[in-house]
Amino acid sequence: MKRLTIAIDGHSSCGKSTMAKELARRLGYVYVDTGAMYRAVTLFAMRRGLFDSGTLDAAALESLMPQVKVGFRIDPATGLPRTLLCGVDVEREIRGMDVSSHVSEVAALPFVRSAMTRQQQLMGQDGGVVMDGRDIGTAVFPDAELKVFVTASAEVRAQRRYDELRAKGEEAAYDDILRNVQERDYIDSHRAVAPLRQAPDALLIDNSALTREQQNQWLWSKAQERLASPSK
Ligand code: C5P
Repeated sequence: MKRLTIAIDGHSSCGKSTMAKELARRLGYVYVDTGAMYRAVTLFAMRRGLFDSGTLDAAALESLMPQVKVGFRIDPATGLPRTLLCGVDVEREIRGMDVSSHVSEVAALPFVRSAMTRQQQLMGQDGGVVMDGRDIGTAVFPDAELKVFVTASAEVRAQRRYDELRAKGEEAAYDDILRNVQERDYIDSHRAVAPLRQAPDALLIDNSALTREQQNQWLWSKAQERLASPSK
């Protein structure tokens, strides 16, 4: 049975990772959350005080990059990956608003992108992977057999993120989240290196009005079509 490389790209907080995780689980593939990797680099920069002057000290981050070790370990209880920074579990810390509000600036730096892209290509080199991010179908795996571009209205995305943070017991203001979602969309789409774009051969899905079940079913059927077809 062939093992596909599946790229799920799209806007912030549109449920890409939920879809990608579920598809990987059903196919028995590895799931890679590339946003978590950029979030971990951002947390590293914050902890080293590289934002303390009000702007990011990119030169200092570049010289420290060899020390930034990002990885994953599978949580045996859930079967899901947890993000490690220099061997320490930072899954919770990387999801907060602090990291969210700095991550797109860090992710726009060419030396950060080249380091993460290299690592992602190694993780997916044997296929059997579902990877979600912003540039997977355009830059990391331009030859992926299935590419999907996910979007939803900014308001729907902000509401979902708000509900998610509140469910975890975290303080959050809807207006701040909406602003953050819009700012990240802007920075991600306008950066010079590997900007967020729908690849010409990606399938578009707007899930604003879809249930989780409907979007999972849609993605499953697309993966089955690719598995059944001899070529792309
Ligand atoms: O997917 P998530 O929202 O956690 O990603 C956090 C941020 O990481 C994005 O807003 C984007 O700036 C950056 N990112 C990226 N390329 C990827 C994945 C994420 O630039 N492949």
